[in-house]
Order: sequence, then C-alpha cells, then structure tokens
Amino acid sequence: MTSSQDTTRSRWGNAPSTTLARIVAPGLSAALAVVCLAVPVRAVVLAAPGSVAEHPAVASVGNQDYGAQVDDAVARVQDSIVRLRETIHQNPELGNREFETAELVADHLRALGFDDVRTGVAHTGVVGILRGGRPGPVVAVRADMDALPVTEDTPYAFKSTVRTTYLGQEVGVSHACGHDIHVAVQLGVASVLASMRDELPGTVKFIFQPAEEGPPPGEDGGARMMVAEGVLADPAPSAIFGLHSFADLEVGTVGFSVGPALAAVDHFKIRVVGKQSHGAAPHLSVDPVVMAAQAVGAFQTIRSRNLSPLEPSVVTVGIIRGGTRFNIIPGAVEMEGTVRTYNPEVRDAVERRMGEILAGITAAGGGAYELDYDRGTPATINDPALAARMLPTLRRVLGDDNVLDLAPTMGGEDFAYFANEVPGFFFRLGQVKPGGVSGGHHTPDFQADNSAVPVGIRTMTNLLLDYLKAERPAS
Ligand SMILES: [Zn+2]
Ligand SMILES: [Zn+2]
Repeated sequence: MTSSQDTTRSRWGNAPSTTLARIVAPGLSAALAVVCLAVPVRAVVLAAPGSVAEHPAVASVGNQDYGAQVDDAVARVQDSIVRLRETIHQNPELGNREFETAELVADHLRALGFDDVRTGVAHTGVVGILRGGRPGPVVAVRADMDALPVTEDTPYAFKSTVRTTYLGQEVGVSHACGHDIHVAVQLGVASVLASMRDELPGTVKFIFQPAEEGPPPGEDGGARMMVAEGVLADPAPSAIFGLHSFADLEVGTVGFSVGPALAAVDHFKIRVVGKQSHGAAPHLSVDPVVMAAQAVGAFQTIRSRNLSPLEPSVVTVGIIRGGTRFNIIPGAVEMEGTVRTYNPEVRDAVERRMGEILAGITAAGGGAYELDYDRGTPATINDPALAARMLPTLRRVLGDDNVLDLAPTMGGEDFAYFANEVPGFFFRLGQVKPGGVSGGHHTPDFQADNSAVPVGIRTMTNLLLDYLKAERPAS
C-alpha cells in the first residue's frame, strides 16, 4: 500500500486538521495490542542537571576522526529537523495509516541523494539505503512512525488537534509515545551521514516502520511484517540500532539495559460460559460472574505459586464484561488482558496454567470456558556483545553521568522482531526538558521536548559511525 497521490508537501505546513479524513479508526485490537514502553521505570533517578548542551566539549573527545564533524553537521541541520518534528507532531497518523509521514520521510531521503528509497514496505514503511564512499559493513537503524488515539493536552504551540472516530468514539490523535521524535532523529541522522558519505565506511539502512503499537484488526503490520517482507535482506545488516524517547529521563541523558530490556507481550481473551437466571434464584444459574472472579484471583497464583520468584512475569486482566441488569445473573462473562514475560519457558507456563485454572474453576462451577491466547511481540534482548561495544560510545558522546543503566521494564517493543534476526541495541532517549515535566507514555500530557532531537541525532550518528568503523575491513 502506498501513500495517496493527492497529498502534497504543502499540506504539511498548513492546518494540522487536514489529515483527519485519512486517519481510519484501527479498532479494538490495536488498542489492546498497545505495547511499547507501557511501563515507566519510576525507580530510576533522573540524572543531575548537566545536559549535553552544557558540555559541548564532550562531543569531540575520544574520536577525533569525526566527533567534531558530527557536531558541526548536527548544528547545521537541527533547526530544520526540529521543524520537521513539529510538522510530524501536528499531523499524527495511526498505525498502517502513516501515509503523509511516509511521504515526508521518503521525500527527505530522496532529497539527500540516497541510493535507494523503497516505499510501501509493510503497508506504509519506508526503507532508505545510504552507501558510503569507503568499504565497510551494513548497519541498520530503525524508527517507528505511528501515533495513538490519545487527545493531546500539552502547552505546545505545535500540539495536535487532529481528531478521528475510534471504536465508535470521537477522539484525538497524537504522538503520545514520542514516535515523532524517533522519526525526526532518524531523519537528522540521515542528513548528517549523507553530508559525510564520502568518508562513511560502509552502508546504513534506514528503516522507518509503521504500526509499532499494533496494526488495525484484520491487518498485518509492524516490525514482524517488515521482516517477513525481507527488510533485513538486500543488503543484510550485521546489526541494528533503535531508540525510544523516554518520559522518565531528562534531555541529555540516555538509558540502556544489557540483555533483557523489554518484555514479551501477549494478549488473551476469555469467555466464561454459565447459565442465565433471575438474580434472586442463583441456584437455577451457573454463575459466570462467580467463576470469572475466582479465575481472576487464581491467575495471580501463577506468578506467586507456579513460577520462580526470580522470573519476571505479569498477568493482568484489563477488561471484565458481563451482565445487563442488576437482578439478572448473566449467561457469560468475557475477560481480556495481557501477559508479560521474558523467559520463553515462563511464557509457556503462564499460558498452560491459565488454561488449567479455567478448566478447574469452570468444571467445579458447572460451566465452560474459551481461552484465546495470542502471542505477540517477543522480548527485546540487547545483544550483550554489541552493547558492550557501544556503551563507550554513549559515554563519550553524552558523558559518563548521563548514561544510565536501567532496570528492564515489562513494557514491550516490536523492535524485538529485528533484534531476533541480527544483533540489536536499543536505548532510551531522555525527553524531559530539565526542570520540566511530562506525563507518562500514552497519556494526554506526554511531552517530549524539541531539545531531545539534536541529542538523539548526535548519539545515534556516533553509534552508527563507531560501529561501521570498528567493523570495516582493514585497508
Ligand atoms: Zn507506545
Ligand atoms: Zn512507543
């Protein structure tokens, strides 16, 4: 699927509401599939003030080959890239509907003289290839492009006023997870590396991904579909990098986790079936409300009694739906929820125990059940060897105190599909203006400051260059 041809770049600079008609409600399963970074790491203490901007000398220390050159290039492009960020922010598009965002991306890459710009990848994805002037390996970098059905409530002059109908309700659409920052940073990295391409020792594959939050019901999409379409071939990268803006970190800081970083995300639907009766005659019913309530409680014993206390896991029932009137025992109750794990054996055990618990409780109660357990994004694992190689780069670029070792979270990221194929390194980019505030991810007052953009460009560019330089063949 490619972008609509009636879209023009000029619309991007105009009223943000012009995208409204082309944003299609993706439906319930997308809402339920929302995975990325859903759990903030509140335990992390924000770094002391001392943003990168306050320590310009740090940039050129360590790698005299290109540290200063990168800084100069970032300084040249950052204003225009921040304007692009504001444009993307004002024109958010839901998953698999990133038509105008993709067009902006493709136009930018073509204008930079990229060797190859592929559009329509996994519906609305864009892949750009930048071949350097020197021999070297291929490395990939990925940004996600989709927005969320969240009504923005921020003081930004460029805040989104886009609205759409979503699940039958009129809601706002906004970049409440910061994917606009990701796109802008990656466009900036493209600009900086394109300006240095003669000295670039290898090839960089820029992946702009749709639908990280989950595709609309009945559609495929996201990283899994990009991989299935061969995005990691022709040319095949030997590593992939990604970042996520993070509402718990100040601008100028980044966070990382070596090894397990983000959890596997599963989605279950349950139907507990009983027999309807008058509320005053429970002996004539098979009460699904009682059975469902018992099941919710018993599910918590999976974590506390079936699994090692040292193995992370979450079983959350997020929806219980049943009944029509206070004095009627309903015939069935539906539940939905999510399971988060890291260890594949734990994942298997949770699914198996949910079935056993439902079978036991409904057998005892005289009812029946249906369990639809859908395995979603796998756990995101930062390749330990790659992480060990790249951490010195983060520390050199940002300063030791601004690189934070974070605990893994039970949020998820479909970057995992890429990192399952090639070694991956994924880090969190501080987004809160020092002294400022941000609401949590996926909330109306989520705020990612523009000043995060140049920090992200600088950090990611140095990571890619250091990786390519270390991997290039001896000459
Ligand atoms: Zn998200
Ligand atoms: Zn996200």
